[in-house]
Amino acid sequence: MEYHYYTTEVIQVIDETLQVKRFILKMSNDVEFRFQSGQFIMLDLPIASTQTNRSFSIASAPSNNNIFEICIVKKEDGIGTSWIWENMNVGTHLQCTTALGKFMLPETIESDLCFIATGTGIAPVRSMILDIYSNQKAHKNIYVVFGNRWIKDILYREEFEALQAEHPEFHFIPVLSRETRANWLGHIGYVHAVYEKLFEDRRAATFFLCGWNAIVKEARDRIKAMGYTKKDMKYELYD
Ligand SMILES: Cc1cc2nc3c(=O)[nH]c(=O)nc-3n(C[C@H](O)[C@H](O)[C@H](O)COP(=O)(O)OP(=O)(O)OC[C@H]3O[C@@H](n4cnc5c(N)ncnc54)[C@H](O)[C@@H]3O)c2cc1C
Repeated sequence: MEYHYYTTEVIQVIDETLQVKRFILKMSNDVEFRFQSGQFIMLDLPIASTQTNRSFSIASAPSNNNIFEICIVKKEDGIGTSWIWENMNVGTHLQCTTALGKFMLPETIESDLCFIATGTGIAPVRSMILDIYSNQKAHKNIYVVFGNRWIKDILYREEFEALQAEHPEFHFIPVLSRETRANWLGHIGYVHAVYEKLFEDRRAATFFLCGWNAIVKEARDRIKAMGYTKKDMKYELYD
């Protein structure tokens, strides 16, 4: 597939956790950069590899000002993310594709939405949630089941909790695999038990799965086993 590249500039870097950084990018004015919430871009990195493109989901809501956010976790010994950690600072210019992918909201939201994300897999989910609320898209119940290891890993926590406080139909459900009851009163373990319980009545729903491959694949199989079909599910695999 042939991609179209445009120059993008890093305009802000936010150190979110020790391993995760948020990058605010501005696409060159040579292009009207438009995207649907949930899509991703590829950055062509100046790295010594036969594969120099790395994909990153857009974490911000669609906008008209060519500015967008990506959220990246540092992979141990990862070639691309090592380069990013050392070199991607405010003012850095990179080659970036137009928006790609089909991990997107339906045109009209007719059933409950259940987002199941792990780690930086929350990025496209944030984009879609901000899109729904900032553009007042009609919707039913929304569940964000967000798997991580530790409390400190819960990205965008304050933002999602604020939305939950404001909107009774919005449910933010972090699930932590390494915490103990001593310091976490929420769900402990893996995401699977949580969405299986939430949708045990098999009501109409659309599931969006994103993040670590093993979890996404297991969720896909389990949701099928619950009686849902392929058209009830969309997924994005990260590795
Ligand atoms: C659609 C999509 C969206 C994603 N969104 C995000 C996101 O929002 N945030 C995030 O943190 N991560 C995201 N990822 C993962 C991201 O693209 C990178 O895989 C991750 O950052 C690790 O990159 P790395 O170069 O550090 O690791 P590496 O392990 O060095 O490389 C990562 C991948 O690049 C490919 N690759 C590397 N070298 C070669 C080679 N020589 N030849 C061929 N292929 C090679 C392989 O597929 C490898 O698994 C996404 C992935 C996909 C597919």
